Amino acid sequence: MSTTGKINVQTENIFPIIKKFLYSDNEIFLRELVSNATDATQKLKALTNMGEAKGDLGDTKIEVEVDKTSKTITIKDKGIGMTKDEIEKYIAQIAFSGAEEFVNKYKDKVDKNVVIGHFGLGFYSAFMVAKKVEIFSLSYKKDAKAVHWECDGSPEYQIEEIGNRTQRGTNIILHIADDCEEYLEQSKIEGLLKKYCKFLPVEIKFGTKKEYVKEPLIEGEKEEDRKEKEIEVDNIINNPTPAWTKKPTDLTEEDYKAFYHELYPMQFEEPLFNIHLNVDYPFNLTGILYFPKLTNKLEMPKDKIQLYSNQVFVTDNCENIVPDFLTLLRGVIDSPDIPLNVSRSYLQADGNVKKISSHITKKVADKLEELFKKDRAEFEKKWDDIKIFVQYGIISDEKFYDKAAKFSLVKTTDNKFYTFDEFENQVKPTQTDKDKKLIYLYATNIAEQHAYIDAAKSRGYEVLLMETMLDPHYINYLEGKLKDIQFVRVDADTIDKLIKKDENTISKLTEEQQKTLQPIIENTVTKEQFNVVFENLSEKDQPMLITRPEFMRRMKDMNQLGGGGMGSFYGNMPDMYNLVVNSNHPLIGRILSETNADVQKNLAKQAADLALLSQGLLKGEGLTNFIKRSVELI
Ligand code: ADP
Repeated sequence: MSTTGKINVQTENIFPIIKKFLYSDNEIFLRELVSNATDATQKLKALTNMGEAKGDLGDTKIEVEVDKTSKTITIKDKGIGMTKDEIEKYIAQIAFSGAEEFVNKYKDKVDKNVVIGHFGLGFYSAFMVAKKVEIFSLSYKKDAKAVHWECDGSPEYQIEEIGNRTQRGTNIILHIADDCEEYLEQSKIEGLLKKYCKFLPVEIKFGTKKEYVKEPLIEGEKEEDRKEKEIEVDNIINNPTPAWTKKPTDLTEEDYKAFYHELYPMQFEEPLFNIHLNVDYPFNLTGILYFPKLTNKLEMPKDKIQLYSNQVFVTDNCENIVPDFLTLLRGVIDSPDIPLNVSRSYLQADGNVKKISSHITKKVADKLEELFKKDRAEFEKKWDDIKIFVQYGIISDEKFYDKAAKFSLVKTTDNKFYTFDEFENQVKPTQTDKDKKLIYLYATNIAEQHAYIDAAKSRGYEVLLMETMLDPHYINYLEGKLKDIQFVRVDADTIDKLIKKDENTISKLTEEQQKTLQPIIENTVTKEQFNVVFENLSEKDQPMLITRPEFMRRMKDMNQLGGGGMGSFYGNMPDMYNLVVNSNHPLIGRILSETNADVQKNLAKQAADLALLSQGLLKGEGLTNFIKRSVELI
């Protein structure tokens, strides 16, 4: 006997509303229904183990089928099934009342971002893509009668007990709506299953596939003549026991690598190392994080950390769940304790999420420290790849800095590595200036700043290499953090002034003579860009050189990186450099004593051009003229 029931909801037409709101996310219906099928199967397994469900468990595969002719998608499980009463209670009442609550909550929110799209609407999400849904079910319970339920999306449904179903479990049949026919494509459904159900704990079959197997070897037949035959096998979508669900002691290094490639089939590089997460108190979390080898340092990685909840894929946008600086890592996090039905801003304030985030930070720091302590040489080898995470972590997270200060490295232009403490001890005797400040010299480009690096090294100074996009910020941060330390780029000043010591070299030129020379040298460069200054350098240093004050350059750099504030102010100013004239160089004396005005002008110009050339500032017409003049001089 068929009865008609009425779903007890206040809103008569929640379906159109839901459809409109969730349109862009309607693909999750499949995840929800297959998850329900998985739960039903797992429940039956548990009941069987406890001896509550009698009989053989048998095959428990879940099957998904698409039928283009009848325009249906069917999800079949062999789980606990439902009786008539249970369908009326769980499906008609609970599921739909949950849906109504949802609609009431979000109906006025025009901003779709409020809903993050993983709200666990459950069974009811079937109506996002179906105009009619049918359930055929047979409960595992003794003497249970099979049931058929049908609903076309209005609050009215039909339900009847039927006699002709002997298979335990549930079939859900979706009659796909006219505007959702894309879901009748095999490839579409297969893609969605692979996205959401790739690691569900129960095998999921989607059609069959062909496989080739060797026929038995006939006596006297050679191996290479052995025949192959084509057979049809179930096309299983998922791996029900992914690596993160296993114990670390049961996994080898190879297993971890293999799982990395299973997660990211398009990644060919091996990961650098991994971190297996396993917490059950005060929250539940498992997972494996990988440090990737970054091939292109400028490109943001597309392969991101994937978030699962009990092996159901939720999202690969882990923003606000893992600390920002770790979003560059790869791998999986599985936690049923991350609330999914909420907005991202709420997530940020959630206590559990905060704990999870700091736990992950701590684990990552511990792992790095362990690697550093265990094999320093290997750690140094990996440093260029790890560096970005460590630096980003240091800048953004005080707690991480406290740990990372022990293993974070700096690298010199000679490829030597030091920890912060080691470097400080190394350079303290030589690079402390007269005001007791410790000066850390650095270069951003070995080729371009070669002459300056050379000069610094000839004084016994160490030069750090700071060449990445993040380094300017890192330098700023460290200056705030490390006491009495200042970073200065090697070309920020003349070698003697980079690290000011007390020794004073005496000038060979009088003040009078410098005044005479000043305009002659000023004429060789553009006034707005260059400031001519005299310095008493050694005779062995260059006659003229270009420096760029550290402060000015940093402001410019910050501006380029998009930092606002004073950076934008200085960013709009023309570049300013110092043209330093070495009063003690013989050539400068020669220019001063030259009586022929033309020759004097040429000599000054030539010396200035050489200085520009070594900083890569001589270009275009200036360079052409320089070459012509050089040829004439030869
Ligand atoms: P949730 O899964 O969050 O509880 P759903 O709306 O998806 O919400 O399902 C409501 C209830 O219906 C489930 O808790 C379960 O008891 C029952 N149910 C749904 N699908 C199945 C199924 N395939 N087999 C057995 N029971 C099911």
